[in-house]
Amino acid sequence: MDQVECVIVGAGVVGLAIARRLARADREVIILEAAEAIGTGTSSRNSEVIHAGIYYAAGSMMAQMCVAGKKALYAYCRDHDVPHRNCGKLIVATRAEEVDKLQSIKARAEANGVGDMRLLSGQAACALEPALDCQAALLSPSTGIVDSHALMLSLRGEAEAAGGAFAFHAPLLQARVQGEGIEIDVGGEAPMSLQCRLLINAAGLAATMVARRIDGMPIELIPPAYLAKGNYFSCSARSPFSHLIYPVPEPGGLGVHLTLDLAGQAKFGPDVEWIDSIDYVVDPERANRFYPAIRRYWPGLPDDALIPGYAGIRPKIVPPAVAVQDFMIQGSREHGVAGLINLFGIESPGLTSCLAIADYVADLAQA
Ligand SMILES: Cc1cc2nc3c(=O)[nH]c(=O)nc-3n(C[C@H](O)[C@H](O)[C@H](O)COP(=O)(O)OP(=O)(O)OC[C@H]3O[C@@H](n4cnc5c(N)ncnc54)[C@H](O)[C@@H]3O)c2cc1C
Repeated sequence: MDQVECVIVGAGVVGLAIARRLARADREVIILEAAEAIGTGTSSRNSEVIHAGIYYAAGSMMAQMCVAGKKALYAYCRDHDVPHRNCGKLIVATRAEEVDKLQSIKARAEANGVGDMRLLSGQAACALEPALDCQAALLSPSTGIVDSHALMLSLRGEAEAAGGAFAFHAPLLQARVQGEGIEIDVGGEAPMSLQCRLLINAAGLAATMVARRIDGMPIELIPPAYLAKGNYFSCSARSPFSHLIYPVPEPGGLGVHLTLDLAGQAKFGPDVEWIDSIDYVVDPERANRFYPAIRRYWPGLPDDALIPGYAGIRPKIVPPAVAVQDFMIQGSREHGVAGLINLFGIESPGLTSCLAIADYVADLAQA
């Protein structure tokens, strides 16, 4: 049986960041990816926003990794010519009763170390964005956007340059904890078995299923899996905005917000639709809920401007009734299995946090 030091399951942005980090620390790394290419899962079905770290509970993994990851990601993008823009974002209160919420969002951001948020009157917000209608707003100067595909290509290139090897069409089927190592059965086009000392499960939506396939992983420590789909609509009208525009958050998501791509084109979403199985089709009827939500802050949105776009699915590990979840990253201290690291529930802000998550996993892998 072939031996390798580290196996990473999943070549999404998180698996790629971990592969780069470990390969550059001179670890022998192979990345198993079930699909035909990198980043075909959630990593190419998101808003591509570099989040500031505003909403998460103080001390949570999301808060810490988002704030550290944002800093690391801006530096990485600058150093590696990954297209990005620090465009800033406005969180807008469109009703009088929402104005107080902006103050509590600002306080939460400050508890997370995001100290640059500014409360603006409706007039000041409209001076920045004349097409906006709101009572007040919160400006987040450190929010931005990134070309996630260019980022993933860069991470892959660096992982390969440092000796990391990729196997595509190579799903992990089963694994067994055996003494000092873990044996893995790989399916797909070239089935094989491998033995490794470190197995990192970064399989995104499939992470709980992969964990269940590891004989020796305590089943009671694997969280349940739920799917919360987020639908996007693109906008055929020219966007009058230069900042991202977010309403105050709603349970399970951040509300129907406007994000921009690097060409300045606007898209709206994601909303929150709890589903039972993976399905990326966007129902055009959902536009009926988007129009009124968007017109609360952009009354000038033209009729018929919304076109069904794409969807992404949040890998939830808490049911709909529980509003808050955190990243769950388990090493041997959590589950008692030497050489196994599981990453569960890596939803937003996972893209922003990828470099910080990679550092955290590298530290766990040393322990
Ligand atoms: C709607 C939506 C919007 C979002 N917006 C943002 C945002 O604006 N900013 C932000 O920071 N974050 C955002 N996120 C979160 C971010 O997209 C994710 O946290 C991140 O992409 C997760 O990356 P990943 O590598 O963990 O998972 P994935 O990208 O899903 O990668 C997992 C990989 O594992 C592979 N795999 C699965 N099973 C196996 C197996 N058995 N063997 C081998 N390979 C396997 C899959 O094929 C896949 O390629 C958003 C998420 C969603 C759903």
